[in-house]
Amino acid sequence: MELQCAIQNYHWGKKGLLSSVARLIKASNPNIAIDDNKPYAELWMGTHPSGPSSIRKTNESLVEFINNNNDVLGDEVKKTFGDSLPFLFKILSIATSLSIQAHPDKKRAEILNKLQPNVYKDPNHKPEIAIALTKFEALCGFRPVSEIQYFLKSVPELCMVIGDDIANEFIGSDEANCRINLRKCLEGLLTHHADSTADRLKNYLERLRQMDECSREEMNAHLFERLHADFPGDVGCFGIYFFNYVTLKPGEAIYLSPDEPHAYLSGDCVECMACSDNVVRAGLTPKLKDVPTLVEMLTYKCEPGFEKYFKSTKIDEFTEIFRPPIKDFAVAKIEILSSTTTYTLSPQNSAGILIIIEGKIQVNSNIYNEGSVLFIKSKEQLNLKILSENKRTLMFEAFANV
Ligand SMILES: [Zn+2]
Repeated sequence: MELQCAIQNYHWGKKGLLSSVARLIKASNPNIAIDDNKPYAELWMGTHPSGPSSIRKTNESLVEFINNNNDVLGDEVKKTFGDSLPFLFKILSIATSLSIQAHPDKKRAEILNKLQPNVYKDPNHKPEIAIALTKFEALCGFRPVSEIQYFLKSVPELCMVIGDDIANEFIGSDEANCRINLRKCLEGLLTHHADSTADRLKNYLERLRQMDECSREEMNAHLFERLHADFPGDVGCFGIYFFNYVTLKPGEAIYLSPDEPHAYLSGDCVECMACSDNVVRAGLTPKLKDVPTLVEMLTYKCEPGFEKYFKSTKIDEFTEIFRPPIKDFAVAKIEILSSTTTYTLSPQNSAGILIIIEGKIQVNSNIYNEGSVLFIKSKEQLNLKILSENKRTLMFEAFANV
């Protein structure tokens, strides 16, 4: 069954047909008008109430269809998650950075939802995976302690915002007390008076400009300047000295477990998450920053950026699966070479959602183009005829990891 999916026009999205989201919806729906000045940030595939999908042929909502035919979910899914689809599948197309954020675990999500239902709209956790479609930049997890210490020693403007005493305490930390001191640093940084932070950022920018190219490289000057141009005066610009800066090539992925700080900076990706929209923000945003909650929830686990890449498992010549350590979702990447004419998608113990990123396929007598999104019942075996002439066929399928 082909789905009609919701678009989110968040301000940080790429505009018009520069956005993969816009290109995909246009390819599968040529009659749709794309506005060159409008950001097309996200395509939502699933049943989340803030952007539910519907069945294209009948216009019935996917939620309603699942309610009336809950066998399509699969027994394991029903046993673990009840009668609803546990994941939300997305395409993201990012021009300017998203906020520095983390997502609560299940227990905290329930508490936050009870205490502040207007901010934290559902009681669910939100682990997520991002798989790059283009070059993709992100901040992800705390840097190793020695790297953060090095940056604090090199950026006195940052120490002033944190508070010199607190910063020095962290610089002198040993293994035993570095987490608690790192937490104090982050709290100092995020609670400092905004005007004074803006002044320090300006001072530091000025100093960066005068550095030689080698020092600028070492301090990630281009990234800092770019973030400051997009978010002038925002304390989150200093975040690049706390969090790992990672660049993914197409097909590479990062997995964000609960309470792990991150920010997507630029690029296009496929994203899958538990069905939730709970975000605790800390910087690079005009939106509400819930600093006490964020400081309290983070794990302060420090490790190098290369540890953050999430590996897939190849299951046959064309398919690899990204399987995070949770049951809510897994994502298969299916890349079929141009010389292949047929392919059978492995059936799953869960309902799945498949999107065609490149190429053209035929299922029974129906032909699906780029941008088509299909809902697949649990245990259903799909025999595909590949119609993408002389080019690869690239698809992603999300399903529950049961
Ligand atoms: Zn996130």
